[in-house]
Amino acid sequence: MKLRVVVLGAGFGGLELSTILSETIGDHLELTLIDRSDSFYFGFSKLDVMFGRKAPGAVKLSYSHIVKPGVQFRQEIITAIDPVTRKVVTDKGRYDADVLVVALGADYDINATPGLAEGGNEFYTFHGAERLREVIPGFTKGHAIIGVTSAPFKCPPAPSEAALLLHDYLTERGIRNSCEISIVIPFGLPIPPSPDTSNALLAAFAERNIRFIPNHRVRALDPSRQVAILDDDTELPFDLFLGIPKHCAPEVLADSGLTVNGWIPVDRNNLKTRFPNVYAIGDVTSVGTPKAGVFAEGAARIAAASIIAELKGGETFLPYSGAGSCYVEFGQDLVGRVDVDFFSGPKPTGIFKEPSDELVRDKQYFGSSRAERWFGL
Ligand SMILES: Cc1cc2nc3c(=O)[nH]c(=O)nc-3n(C[C@H](O)[C@H](O)[C@H](O)COP(=O)(O)OP(=O)(O)OC[C@H]3O[C@@H](n4cnc5c(N)ncnc54)[C@H](O)[C@@H]3O)c2cc1C
Repeated sequence: MKLRVVVLGAGFGGLELSTILSETIGDHLELTLIDRSDSFYFGFSKLDVMFGRKAPGAVKLSYSHIVKPGVQFRQEIITAIDPVTRKVVTDKGRYDADVLVVALGADYDINATPGLAEGGNEFYTFHGAERLREVIPGFTKGHAIIGVTSAPFKCPPAPSEAALLLHDYLTERGIRNSCEISIVIPFGLPIPPSPDTSNALLAAFAERNIRFIPNHRVRALDPSRQVAILDDDTELPFDLFLGIPKHCAPEVLADSGLTVNGWIPVDRNNLKTRFPNVYAIGDVTSVGTPKAGVFAEGAARIAAASIIAELKGGETFLPYSGAGSCYVEFGQDLVGRVDVDFFSGPKPTGIFKEPSDELVRDKQYFGSSRAERWFGL
């Protein structure tokens, strides 16, 4: 009998877990990987799309390329999950699993921020980034705000990267002096676990005359007056608002009984939920790491090790360190990196690597190596 594994969500976590299981126990595997989309894209490619650095079609990796022993991809919308019986319903069928892996990522509640949908923009959905390709060229003078509306949010460096890339965009067009850029973040520093990375970003903001407004979030926009209203009721006028919307677990989880306080709690040692043979990995969990692809991948490795060990009747002793390297676009065609580790020591650490051309190549390799590993491209 083959092990029936159903993986919900083909993002960073679902793709990595499916790849490891296929490589390791492909002959004993009947894995169904389900996603509503027809293709995958890296989160960071939204920055490339919004600033017109890459065409939307060029950053998408079609799931039709997945050819792996024991793995079947299905483009379907998951409509119900029963973690007790491990049954999954989609718009096209039903699945029974011996092992269920929830890797559905984080969705957005744009309406949680009054005025954002009507008067602002967001760059966290692919559609939002595509739309901004048309909007940003129309911004030629005035005040641009990059504003976080709530925490947690994906990829904590992304708002800082957007500010630095917007600076470059406006500079290249010769209109930077007609524009102001502000960034509103609910933390005291751009990247709290790494003071060195934060200091480098703060220095980059200061050099470029980007105003950094820490310890605040944008609670609403008033589109009629074009003002952003912060959590202390301060009002900031804007001509362009680039928002980071409130994050939430995908709606299909609401009635599943898997979430507690909005996200799925898991055992950090093996990524198991409280339901037998049901795992959860990546952004959809409250495991304690930031919501980022590298951490979803790390969690996938631990969950896969646990599934393989249980199939073989053993145990896994791989500790989950919550470690990962995040690339940070510093503008001027340079990329830095922060190597973060959340669980190995008494407190999270983040080691900063200065922006360089080498790290530009490293980031490219990060993308191309995954395209090859997951899609055979
Ligand atoms: C602007 C931006 C920049 C970023 N930069 C980086 C970066 O440089 N490095 C980094 O590591 N991370 C980065 N991220 C974050 C990264 O993209 C996410 O954290 C990562 O994708 C999470 O992986 P995941 O597997 O948990 O979920 P996801 O990759 O989001 O995958 C979840 C999948 O579930 C599917 N799904 C959801 N609901 C359903 C349903 N009902 N039915 C069927 N399918 C469904 C979705 O279509 C999706 O494909 C960035 C994010 C953004 C927005």
